[in-house]
Amino acid sequence: MLFSDVAGQDDIKKYLKHSVAEDNISHGYIFEGPNSIGKLELALVFAQSILCDKFDNEPCNNCNACIKINSSNHPDIHILDFKDKTIKKESVDEIIESIYIRPYESKKKVYIVNNSQNMTLQAANTFLKTLEEPPKDTVIILLTTNSNLLIPTVVSRCQLIKFKNVSKNEIIKKLIDKYNINEQKAKIISDYSKGILNKAIRIVEGKNEILRERDEIIKIVNNVLNSSQDIIYEYENYFEEKKDNIDDVLEIIMIWMRDLSFTKEGLVKLVVNKDYLELLEEQSRKISLEDIANMVQYVQNVSLDVKNHVNYKLVIDKMLTEIQNCKI
Ligand SMILES: [Zn+2]
Repeated sequence: MLFSDVAGQDDIKKYLKHSVAEDNISHGYIFEGPNSIGKLELALVFAQSILCDKFDNEPCNNCNACIKINSSNHPDIHILDFKDKTIKKESVDEIIESIYIRPYESKKKVYIVNNSQNMTLQAANTFLKTLEEPPKDTVIILLTTNSNLLIPTVVSRCQLIKFKNVSKNEIIKKLIDKYNINEQKAKIISDYSKGILNKAIRIVEGKNEILRERDEIIKIVNNVLNSSQDIIYEYENYFEEKKDNIDDVLEIIMIWMRDLSFTKEGLVKLVVNKDYLELLEEQSRKISLEDIANMVQYVQNVSLDVKNHVNYKLVIDKMLTEIQNCKI
């Protein structure tokens, strides 16, 4: 991998590259930022750069270390992931014991701990001990969504690096360059991924189904607007199945409502669902701006109601009825 394979985070890349070039690597780093923002990818490129024999602004991708890392097969890079808390105590022990053994092949060994906020206390304490009396050859990179959830003494011994959301333009560029999709589609995907590059990539690769879901919801809203009240009951099962990710559904409806008001006001360039312009224009002729504003407010309240355990079926039925009543 290369630093340039990871979108955005230019300041962080510059800092990490400089540290490698100057051979000024700390014993501990904390990469803090939301899920799927590229913390793991950047940690891996950084680790590769530390171990690479011919680092020059980027890892060479040719030396023995690079080749092994690229095939996830380097004995001096250890990755621990506390994602689902099912990580075995033995595997934690094994890795922790290896901290005090010299690197096998390289000058240094690198530990990358993903979701470190879920670390067991035993693991956290061992890493703390290592950070207090660091063996010269060890680098620990803790990845976390929130550094406040880590032991403060660990945080104080690490370089804290905060990741920012990647700009939409950077995501669009990356999608067009890497996946050869057209600009309109790249823009829609970047809007639905909210600055999280990995989410955008999962959408392009079909591993995240939000765009398919979007097509379904837009169809439902259109049917509700153009039919009698009975149709609302036909969608009860659909929404029941969506109960666990209702926030995604509500967000799609909100974006649609916002698009309707942009279309109505002639601000087409602000529309997210540009591939549905014709339908937006048709619907926007039937709905007043005031109704749209009320709907946005209503959908926001649905999200709160669901969190507060108000009867789910009732809340959804009422929301669809409100959408239906929007017609002029
Ligand atoms: Zn190399």
